Amino acid sequence: MLWRLLERHSKPIDACLGVDGPPQSATGQATMFTGVNCAAAMGKHCEGFPGPGLRKIIEENNLFLELKRRNLSVKFADAYLVDGVDELEMRRFKSVTTVMALTLPETVSTIDDLVNDEALLQDLTRETIQERYPDIPVIPPQRAAEHLFRIARKFDFTLFEFFQSDIAGHSMDYARACAVLRVYDRFLSALVRYTEAAGLTVVLTSDHGNIEEIGERGHTRNQIPFIAYGPGEKMLREKVSSLKDVMGAVLQAYETLS
Ligand SMILES: [Zn+2]
Repeated sequence: MLWRLLERHSKPIDACLGVDGPPQSATGQATMFTGVNCAAAMGKHCEGFPGPGLRKIIEENNLFLELKRRNLSVKFADAYLVDGVDELEMRRFKSVTTVMALTLPETVSTIDDLVNDEALLQDLTRETIQERYPDIPVIPPQRAAEHLFRIARKFDFTLFEFFQSDIAGHSMDYARACAVLRVYDRFLSALVRYTEAAGLTVVLTSDHGNIEEIGERGHTRNQIPFIAYGPGEKMLREKVSSLKDVMGAVLQAYETLS
């Protein structure tokens, strides 16, 4: 399924943002979710957790806040292993998506949501938390897709973040990368079957390349795929040529499709 999406519904876009060096997660994601070229604003690609400068840009405005402003309901479907927003707020290190979700606390999914199948674990199958939470059952990726679809039907916009592909890319372990992509492919096959039947649009992209060059430990400067599948897909692809355009295209889709 991933190959079909890449072949027929994808456009290569820029993740380098006019800045030297390999693109990194903090500036890449912040750019994707704010429409501001954060790599240019910071003068470099910043990895990992955003510092005060980046956090300020994200907190000022972001995709979640813009959707809310348009009276659209939003959910971040990745479960945090916390009991509530306060616990998440207290974390010292927060990713871009965490900073964004905390600007609209109603979007945050907790461990209770995961237990009730109203959120997903970032690895899809929950295998990575088996030691810590033996009572939360492992599920096949197809089931995770069913959960995401059910959430997506309840909200106008649902975000799901998957980063096992980045971890596998850094490992330089070909077998591991294949295993991760197989799981992801099963998930996407099921997800797209559901969304197609329901007339929902799936947008899928990345903050940088990595796994496509398994012989390279770090991120690559390759273009990244921007996939759109479902109503409005052509318009979405036409509007996007770099990470900076993602937020604007998504917001525009709601205007065009409503
Ligand atoms: Zn990485």
